[in-house]
Amino acid sequence: MPQAEMKARGISQQAGMRSQDAVHPVGLGQGELVPSRYAVKVGEIDVLVISDGVLPLPTAMLAHNADPAVRAAWLNDMFLPQDSFDWPLNAVVVRSGEQTILLDAGLGLDPDLNLPRAGQLLKRLAGAGIDLASVTDVVLTHLHMDHIGGLLVEGVREQLRPDLRIHVAAAEVKFWEAPDFSHTDMPPGFPDALRAAAKRFTQEYRSHLRTFEDEHEVAPGVVVRRTGGHTPGHSVIRMASGGDRLTFAGDAVFAVGFEQPDWHNGFEHDPEEAARVRVRLLRELAATGEQLVATHLPFPSIGRVAVDGDAFRWVPIFWDY
Ligand SMILES: [Zn+2]
Repeated sequence: MPQAEMKARGISQQAGMRSQDAVHPVGLGQGELVPSRYAVKVGEIDVLVISDGVLPLPTAMLAHNADPAVRAAWLNDMFLPQDSFDWPLNAVVVRSGEQTILLDAGLGLDPDLNLPRAGQLLKRLAGAGIDLASVTDVVLTHLHMDHIGGLLVEGVREQLRPDLRIHVAAAEVKFWEAPDFSHTDMPPGFPDALRAAAKRFTQEYRSHLRTFEDEHEVAPGVVVRRTGGHTPGHSVIRMASGGDRLTFAGDAVFAVGFEQPDWHNGFEHDPEEAARVRVRLLRELAATGEQLVATHLPFPSIGRVAVDGDAFRWVPIFWDY
């Protein structure tokens, strides 16, 4: 790392440690300046959030039904740029009983969309010592590319177990046979890329798919439940053990969704239903006080929901380190 950058990051070579330790602490891969994984326990269940990187998108995607001036003010209040901002991408590894379960699979690689800062999951799984062959189950919140793309990267399928189970709502698989994009508002190129990724995925992994209607217990204390909204088969994963609870909400909640739960995200195929799903889930999480992780909340994306009347507030956990 250049001297100037080390200085800017507050890393001193005179701090009494070898510079190599400062730049690459144990367990972090080469070039990983900040941690990209975060572990929590939910009773007996081990949960590891892994960042797949970030995905720059136009800010209009945050709320295509909002007054542009109100949207601009929100961005300003959040110290975010007005044109484009980096969406965090998170996936989760869960260990319960004998099972190792991957919740969503990141963006993978799509050279046509030029998103080089995303698609880090495979490298980071390896960095965390998680062998793809040890994964017994994959649970997919939905079949958008940023949730399945990691499984489409060349050479991945061959590393996975032949008896791997991939759990996804039956309604989701059905939807992608003839997907409706008429209520979405995505940047150019995205609808075609999403269609192609979902099609390839269902073709390549058909024999692994284990579909469910409304709810399915994947492992002890790990239940996937269909919500619909974002996509017709969109699902969340609820984990409960020993009095602890955590929900992986997929794309039911975005960073803006606490203050503005009614804003329609450009990737929502049924934005009105998505907003109802979001409000219902946020109310429930606020009432129970359980922990929330979501794909597009800033890493490590673990926190709780507070509510005051109709206004929700995101309360991040304090890092435990
Ligand atoms: Zn997503």
